[in-house]
Amino acid sequence: MKKPQVFILLFLYSVAGFLHSQEKDNPLQIPVKPAKLTALKKAAIDWVDAHMADLSRLNDEIWQAAEVAMEEYRSAELLASYLEKMGFRVERGVASLPTAFIGIYGTGDPVIGFLAEYDALPGLSQEAATVKKPVKEGAPGHGCGHNVFGVGSVAAAIAAKEAMEKNGLKGTLKVFGCPAEETVEGKVFMAREGIFDGLACCIQWHPSDDNNVSLASSNALNQFEVEFFGKSAHSAGDPWHGRSALDAVELADIGLNFLREHLPPTARIHYVILDGGGAPNVVPDYARAWYYVRDIDRESVEKDYERVLKVIDGASRMTETTYKIHFKSGVHEMLTNRAGNEIVYSNLLLVGPPPFTEEEQAFAKEIQKNVGVEAKGLSVKIEPFTLPEKSWGGGSTDVAEVSWLAPTTSLGVAFKPLGTPGHHWSAVACAGMSIGHKAAAVAAKVMAASCLDFLTEPQTIQKMREEWTARKKGREYKSPLPPDLRPRVGPRK
Ligand SMILES: [Zn+2]
Repeated sequence: MKKPQVFILLFLYSVAGFLHSQEKDNPLQIPVKPAKLTALKKAAIDWVDAHMADLSRLNDEIWQAAEVAMEEYRSAELLASYLEKMGFRVERGVASLPTAFIGIYGTGDPVIGFLAEYDALPGLSQEAATVKKPVKEGAPGHGCGHNVFGVGSVAAAIAAKEAMEKNGLKGTLKVFGCPAEETVEGKVFMAREGIFDGLACCIQWHPSDDNNVSLASSNALNQFEVEFFGKSAHSAGDPWHGRSALDAVELADIGLNFLREHLPPTARIHYVILDGGGAPNVVPDYARAWYYVRDIDRESVEKDYERVLKVIDGASRMTETTYKIHFKSGVHEMLTNRAGNEIVYSNLLLVGPPPFTEEEQAFAKEIQKNVGVEAKGLSVKIEPFTLPEKSWGGGSTDVAEVSWLAPTTSLGVAFKPLGTPGHHWSAVACAGMSIGHKAAAVAAKVMAASCLDFLTEPQTIQKMREEWTARKKGREYKSPLPPDLRPRVGPRK
């Protein structure tokens, strides 16, 4: 063999070896190159940078308002009026939900959606501090970072619009203001009312503790309450005249715990007792409990739910009580979209993780110390883009409903210290300060850049829709809600 041929062979062997070792390190990893910074994307990114004062103020105002599901009046109005100020037409109170809105820009196809959320969680009030310190004891707080979420999504749409306007790009952008994600309600009612119909694709994100684009799905869910009605009596004097509604709840829960063994291992059941009577010396004639049934997909949840209802019926027979089921909400499993997420990931590689300062890192590490997790600070890297090891997730989200109506992309951007719990005071702390602002800015830039890719490369949307159709396997979206169920408005009763 001549010398140059040997070199070429050696080179090929080393490339093959390198690729093989990469594969061995992470067989699920999908190679994606960073997107290019075009003039179009630069216009969007520059818009975000130039409006950080506005965006940070909005972020903090929604954080301070900290309104829980279906009560997000101020938060929704702050986002809706900012969109209006920036040239979007806004429809308020859509789908009979006073705190839902749509902001629309442009005309014609393609129609690209952005999802914004802004509800807080009860009892998580917290200052932007490294120790647990409520602003107001017992008040709500943004423990899931939905203030950051809402601002990031609204900013993404406005940034994309600015770039479209400057470059004469055609298409329609729709920002969906979605209330009540924490109670898994808002988008389910919006989906049933056809609010998401006609989208070519939809772009969304969620604040996270790392920077990622995930192909993992989520669990389908049914949630409902049961009221049991019994007969009251003196617990010691004449208990034989009583029929305890609390007994019915307890026996239902015992039955469900036994049922678990005979459900598929993917099923999850959880419950709380909302009302179990007032005093031990009175047989409770009324009791109320709230249940979640989750599983890998909609079909499985429906099967599990039928069996759960039998247990509840059995408990009522055993205790000679009557009962009423109140179906509250249900969601599908998320349909992920690899083609769309590859574009989002390439733009995350282009934009990069949030540039956290040393002070922000020190703040995060202090929180980690106080929470009792390793003091690794905030994530400054981008997680690899990989196929999920398992195709289902623990939690459920009403974003899943949208994913059945249009190909929907994902994105996570770091807004809280690595390894700290979700729905926690530490997340509230970070969501109301510069750490949250930076996460919103990165999310806005990545989503705006992805939107511009979708607008300028129609074949991408085509690819996303083909994949989406294949994943649906002939199943069309059917709302999990009973047709006569109206959304609750205002506080949970
Ligand atoms: Zn959330």
